[in-house]
Amino acid sequence: MNPGIVTVSYIGATILFILALGGLSNQETARRGNIYGIIGMTIALLATISGVTGNYGILIGGLAIGGAIGFILAKRVQMTEMPELVAILHSLVGLAAVLVGFANFLGPAHHTGVELTIHDIETYLGILIGAVTFSGSIIAFGKLSGKITGNPMLIPGRHWFNLGLLAASVYICKMFVDQSAAGHGGGLVPLLIMTGIALLFGIHMVMAIGGADMPVVVSMLNSYSGWAASATGFMLSNDLLIVTGALVGSSGAILSYIMCRAMNRKFLSVIAGGFGTTSGASAAAEGEQGEVVAMEPHEVAQLLKDSKEVMIIPGYGMAVAQAQHIVYEITKALRAKKINVRFGIHPVAGRMPGHMNVLLAEARVPYDIVYEMDEINDDFPNIDVSIVIGANDIVNPSAQTDPNSPIAGMPVMECWKGQTTIVLKRGMATGYAGVQNPLFFKENTRMLFGDAGKSLDEVFKAL
Ligand code: NDP
Repeated sequence: MNPGIVTVSYIGATILFILALGGLSNQETARRGNIYGIIGMTIALLATISGVTGNYGILIGGLAIGGAIGFILAKRVQMTEMPELVAILHSLVGLAAVLVGFANFLGPAHHTGVELTIHDIETYLGILIGAVTFSGSIIAFGKLSGKITGNPMLIPGRHWFNLGLLAASVYICKMFVDQSAAGHGGGLVPLLIMTGIALLFGIHMVMAIGGADMPVVVSMLNSYSGWAASATGFMLSNDLLIVTGALVGSSGAILSYIMCRAMNRKFLSVIAGGFGTTSGASAAAEGEQGEVVAMEPHEVAQLLKDSKEVMIIPGYGMAVAQAQHIVYEITKALRAKKINVRFGIHPVAGRMPGHMNVLLAEARVPYDIVYEMDEINDDFPNIDVSIVIGANDIVNPSAQTDPNSPIAGMPVMECWKGQTTIVLKRGMATGYAGVQNPLFFKENTRMLFGDAGKSLDEVFKAL
């Protein structure tokens, strides 16, 4: 294809990606944002493919295999497994950056002098970021899917260990650049050693982060995958990849910042790891435990009918139970009785940013009754009934009262300030952070035990 048309296509795709990001920042425009993204990616793929000369067999074979795997995975994945899928997809971006880096280094050299040095540093950084993203995302996948414990793994002197790895990477970079400049295919050994160090760093970094801080890690790895793609763009001299990678990288970084603010954490202290140890919290919560009071679905229905203000607080369990549709049926029934029903969404509810909003949008809950935590947290004293659907950590008062809690300082939905709170869950299991929840034992809390979907079906029938 004419290079001019390729450039114009790249610019068009870039604009569409920016419009996509803009659209995704708001629920009402998110669908449109996705469509912009799909069109942009189609243009980008077509323009890239048209620039390839020869080797079409490999290209089409790769597209067919990759596309088929992606299609089958996306078809099969349950909504609850989405965060794990996202984590594993991030790892593939990292792996791609590593492989492209090595292929680029081992291929014929096109640069000399300063240009070679710059290109070598691009290659080095691309592989480094890619390897950290790859191993870190695999550990994140393990933690999110419960295959690896959510508790932080804290080795003694871990900050020194990290610092040592960083210093070694800088030193090896110099070795790599020198050996590569000397010619004769030098530099492979330092590159391999650095790859090993970066893989180790990725594993160690994510292993050290505790359960409750995982949202930040997920968005941070999202950001890393963008920077890895951007570095690959530099290696391949592909402007579109540079810009697209930078868009993903910076939006991921902004999301990490927003997540940190939502959890009242400092970004650096999350990365340094260590939050989420369960021991101190369990001990503190033990003392507060008492009796829980269970309720039957028809009693819950009666309580709802008698109320004027209802707040629904969904959490990860709503995703597990796929209860969003019946939640909306109940909402409609209550609204028909002139009861004001609102949804309160905690920024880290569920297992990925925006998890609850996606589920509620899927069930077609109107956006104007869905509120963020900051918007409604002060309203709880006026609420007659709060229904907590499969949420736990995000409604845990010990975040405010127990400084030893792994979630200490995290803002939570203050539903206990309302008249009655009904908690739907299957048993007394803890949530993601592994912390016991004093809310369940409060005087104005009632438990409705069972799968949230089934319990709500019965509440709906009784309504
Ligand atoms: P939690 O994980 O704290 O609690 C979920 C609760 O749902 C459990 O206690 C479980 O109890 C209950 N549950 C599970 N399945 C069902 C079901 N079928 N029916 C009814 N209840 C069910 O979830 P929250 O949303 O409150 O908090 C999110 C947590 O996840 C936070 O700690 C956050 O930091 C972390 N996290 C968030 C990410 C994000 O980006 N949003 C990413 C990674 C982690 P039981 O088994 O007794 O039913």
